[in-house]
Amino acid sequence: MTIEAPFIGVSRHRIGIDGDGVTTLAAFHGCPLHCHHCLNPKCLGPADGLPVFTPEQLYEKTLIDQLYFLATGGGVCFGGGEPLLRPDFICRFRELCGSAWQLTIETSLNVPLENLKAVLPVVNALIVDIKDLHPDIYLRYTGMAIDQTLLNLKHLLEVFPRDSVVVRVPLIPGFNTTEDVDWNKQRLVDAGFTCIETFRYRTLTK
Ligand code: SF4
Repeated sequence: MTIEAPFIGVSRHRIGIDGDGVTTLAAFHGCPLHCHHCLNPKCLGPADGLPVFTPEQLYEKTLIDQLYFLATGGGVCFGGGEPLLRPDFICRFRELCGSAWQLTIETSLNVPLENLKAVLPVVNALIVDIKDLHPDIYLRYTGMAIDQTLLNLKHLLEVFPRDSVVVRVPLIPGFNTTEDVDWNKQRLVDAGFTCIETFRYRTLTK
Protein backbone atom coordinates (compact mmCIF):
# COMPACT_ATOMS: atom_id res chain seq x y z
CA MET A 1 0.00 0.00 0.00
CA THR A 2 1.33 3.44 -0.90
CA ILE A 3 2.00 5.68 2.07
CA GLU A 4 1.28 9.32 1.38
CA ALA A 5 0.21 12.38 3.35
CA PRO A 6 -0.83 15.99 2.76
CA PHE A 7 1.50 18.69 4.08
CA ILE A 8 0.84 22.30 5.00
CA GLY A 9 4.47 23.18 4.35
CA VAL A 10 8.11 22.15 4.15
CA SER A 11 10.50 24.76 5.51
CA ARG A 12 14.29 24.55 5.13
CA HIS A 13 17.27 25.90 7.08
CA ARG A 14 15.71 26.27 10.49
CA ILE A 15 18.23 26.61 13.30
CA GLY A 16 17.64 26.18 17.00
CA ILE A 17 13.83 25.89 17.00
CA ASP A 18 13.03 22.37 15.76
CA GLY A 19 15.79 20.27 17.26
CA ASP A 20 19.57 20.15 16.96
CA GLY A 21 21.51 21.62 14.04
CA VAL A 22 20.12 22.74 10.72
CA THR A 23 16.63 21.36 10.34
CA THR A 24 13.94 21.05 7.70
CA LEU A 25 10.45 21.25 9.19
CA ALA A 26 7.91 19.02 7.42
CA ALA A 27 4.44 19.98 8.68
CA PHE A 28 1.65 17.44 8.18
CA HIS A 29 -1.95 18.42 7.61
CA GLY A 30 -4.43 17.16 10.22
CA CYS A 31 -4.69 17.36 14.00
CA PRO A 32 -7.02 15.80 16.61
CA LEU A 33 -7.04 19.01 18.68
CA HIS A 34 -8.81 22.28 18.00
CA CYS A 35 -6.75 24.78 19.97
CA HIS A 36 -8.38 28.15 20.42
CA HIS A 37 -5.26 29.96 19.21
CA CYS A 38 -4.17 27.32 16.68
CA LEU A 39 -0.70 28.21 15.45
CA ASN A 40 -1.26 26.51 12.09
CA PRO A 41 -4.99 26.78 11.26
CA LYS A 42 -4.34 25.46 7.74
CA CYS A 43 -3.84 22.02 9.23
CA LEU A 44 -7.42 21.99 10.53
CA GLY A 45 -9.14 22.99 7.28
CA PRO A 46 -9.70 20.90 4.15
CA ALA A 47 -6.62 19.28 2.64
CA ASP A 48 -7.72 20.15 -0.91
CA GLY A 49 -4.95 21.81 -2.87
CA LEU A 50 -2.21 20.98 -0.37
CA PRO A 51 0.86 19.13 -1.61
CA VAL A 52 0.77 15.38 -1.04
CA PHE A 53 4.05 13.49 -0.66
CA THR A 54 5.07 9.90 -0.22
CA PRO A 55 8.02 9.33 2.14
CA GLU A 56 10.17 8.79 -0.95
CA GLN A 57 9.14 12.15 -2.42
CA LEU A 58 9.72 13.99 0.86
CA TYR A 59 13.12 12.31 1.20
CA GLU A 60 14.10 13.47 -2.30
CA LYS A 61 12.97 16.99 -1.38
CA THR A 62 14.93 17.11 1.88
CA LEU A 63 18.07 15.41 0.52
CA ILE A 64 19.27 18.73 -0.86
CA ASP A 65 20.29 19.73 2.70
CA GLN A 66 22.02 16.49 3.63
CA LEU A 67 25.44 18.18 3.91
CA TYR A 68 24.04 20.73 6.37
CA PHE A 69 22.34 17.98 8.37
CA LEU A 70 25.50 15.88 8.61
CA ALA A 71 27.76 18.84 9.39
CA THR A 72 25.54 20.20 12.19
CA GLY A 73 23.87 17.11 13.62
CA GLY A 74 20.56 18.23 12.19
CA GLY A 75 17.90 16.59 10.08
CA VAL A 76 14.14 16.66 9.72
CA CYS A 77 11.53 17.72 12.25
CA PHE A 78 8.03 16.36 11.64
CA GLY A 79 5.44 18.82 12.89
CA GLY A 80 1.99 19.88 11.86
CA GLY A 81 -0.68 19.38 12.59
CA GLU A 82 -0.02 16.19 14.45
CA PRO A 83 2.81 14.03 13.05
CA LEU A 84 1.96 11.11 15.33
CA LEU A 85 -1.17 10.53 13.24
CA ARG A 86 1.32 9.34 10.56
CA PRO A 87 3.60 6.75 12.20
CA ASP A 88 3.92 4.63 9.03
CA PHE A 89 5.13 7.64 7.05
CA ILE A 90 7.76 8.52 9.66
CA CYS A 91 9.02 4.93 9.99
CA ARG A 92 9.38 4.62 6.22
CA PHE A 93 11.18 7.96 6.08
CA ARG A 94 13.74 6.67 8.59
CA GLU A 95 14.36 3.62 6.38
CA LEU A 96 15.11 5.99 3.52
CA CYS A 97 17.33 8.53 5.29
CA GLY A 98 19.35 6.05 7.35
CA SER A 99 20.56 6.58 10.88
CA ALA A 100 22.72 9.69 10.44
CA TRP A 101 19.90 12.23 10.22
CA GLN A 102 18.39 13.59 13.40
CA LEU A 103 14.63 12.99 13.33
CA THR A 104 12.59 15.11 15.73
CA ILE A 105 8.83 15.01 16.34
CA GLU A 106 6.87 18.04 17.47
CA THR A 107 3.66 16.67 18.98
CA SER A 108 0.83 17.34 21.41
CA LEU A 109 0.98 13.61 22.34
CA ASN A 110 -2.82 13.38 22.22
CA VAL A 111 -2.77 10.29 19.99
CA PRO A 112 -3.25 6.55 20.52
CA LEU A 113 -0.39 5.00 22.49
CA GLU A 114 0.37 2.55 19.68
CA ASN A 115 1.17 5.48 17.36
CA LEU A 116 3.74 6.77 19.84
CA LYS A 117 5.19 3.29 20.39
CA ALA A 118 5.60 2.83 16.64
CA VAL A 119 7.80 5.90 16.14
CA LEU A 120 9.91 5.94 19.31
CA PRO A 121 12.45 3.40 17.98
CA VAL A 122 13.11 5.51 14.87
CA VAL A 123 13.26 9.09 16.21
CA ASN A 124 15.96 10.90 18.16
CA ALA A 125 14.03 13.59 19.99
CA LEU A 126 10.56 14.83 20.84
CA ILE A 127 9.26 18.34 21.41
CA VAL A 128 6.00 18.02 23.35
CA ASP A 129 3.59 20.95 23.14
CA ILE A 130 1.71 20.12 26.30
CA LYS A 131 -0.71 23.12 26.41
CA ASP A 132 -1.75 22.86 30.11
CA LEU A 133 -1.93 19.86 32.41
CA HIS A 134 -5.06 21.09 34.24
CA PRO A 135 -7.78 18.86 32.73
CA ASP A 136 -10.35 21.67 32.67
CA ILE A 137 -8.02 24.23 31.07
CA TYR A 138 -6.85 21.64 28.55
CA LEU A 139 -10.39 20.71 27.58
CA ARG A 140 -11.47 24.33 27.29
CA TYR A 141 -8.43 25.26 25.18
CA THR A 142 -8.13 22.21 22.90
CA GLY A 143 -11.66 20.77 22.83
CA MET A 144 -10.24 17.36 23.88
CA ALA A 145 -9.73 15.49 27.14
CA ILE A 146 -6.14 15.28 28.39
CA ASP A 147 -6.24 11.63 29.55
CA GLN A 148 -4.48 10.13 26.50
CA THR A 149 -1.74 12.76 26.69
CA LEU A 150 -1.04 11.86 30.32
CA LEU A 151 -0.80 8.16 29.48
CA ASN A 152 1.63 8.92 26.68
CA LEU A 153 3.77 11.19 28.88
CA LYS A 154 4.05 8.33 31.37
CA HIS A 155 5.11 5.93 28.61
CA LEU A 156 7.74 8.39 27.38
CA LEU A 157 9.26 8.61 30.85
CA GLU A 158 9.43 4.83 31.03
CA VAL A 159 11.09 4.09 27.69
CA PHE A 160 12.68 7.19 26.10
CA PRO A 161 15.81 9.12 27.16
CA ARG A 162 14.62 12.05 29.28
CA ASP A 163 17.25 14.42 27.94
CA SER A 164 15.84 13.84 24.44
CA VAL A 165 12.41 15.25 25.34
CA VAL A 166 11.64 18.96 25.50
CA VAL A 167 8.27 19.80 27.05
CA ARG A 168 6.91 23.21 26.15
CA VAL A 169 4.45 24.88 28.52
CA PRO A 170 2.81 28.01 27.15
CA LEU A 171 1.18 30.90 28.94
CA ILE A 172 -2.07 31.06 26.97
CA PRO A 173 -3.82 34.44 27.20
CA GLY A 174 -7.40 34.01 28.37
CA PHE A 175 -6.89 30.36 29.39
CA ASN A 176 -4.14 30.01 32.01
CA THR A 177 -1.99 32.18 34.28
CA THR A 178 1.66 32.42 35.25
CA GLU A 179 0.74 30.49 38.42
CA ASP A 180 -0.71 27.72 36.23
CA VAL A 181 2.47 27.64 34.14
CA ASP A 182 4.60 27.37 37.30
CA TRP A 183 2.34 24.54 38.57
CA ASN A 184 2.71 22.71 35.22
CA LYS A 185 6.47 23.10 35.30
CA GLN A 186 6.75 21.76 38.84
CA ARG A 187 4.53 18.81 38.02
CA LEU A 188 6.68 17.91 35.02
CA VAL A 189 9.89 18.22 37.06
CA ASP A 190 8.39 16.03 39.78
CA ALA A 191 7.45 13.45 37.13
CA GLY A 192 11.07 13.33 35.93
CA PHE A 193 11.28 15.55 32.85
CA THR A 194 14.52 17.50 32.70
CA CYS A 195 14.03 19.95 29.83
CA ILE A 196 11.00 22.22 30.18
CA GLU A 197 10.53 25.45 28.25
CA THR A 198 7.97 28.08 29.19
CA PHE A 199 6.88 30.88 26.90
CA ARG A 200 3.93 33.13 26.14
CA TYR A 201 1.66 32.66 23.14
CA ARG A 202 1.39 35.77 21.02
CA THR A 203 -2.19 36.31 19.96
CA LEU A 204 -3.84 39.03 17.93
CA THR A 205 -5.70 40.37 20.95
CA LYS A 206 -3.29 40.02 23.89
S1 SF4 B 1 -2.05 21.01 18.43
FE1 SF4 B 1 -1.10 22.57 17.13
S2 SF4 B 1 -1.90 22.19 15.07
FE2 SF4 B 1 -3.24 21.07 16.50
S3 SF4 B 1 -4.93 22.50 16.90
FE3 SF4 B 1 -3.37 22.81 18.50
S4 SF4 B 1 -2.07 24.48 17.76
FE4 SF4 B 1 -3.26 23.71 16.01
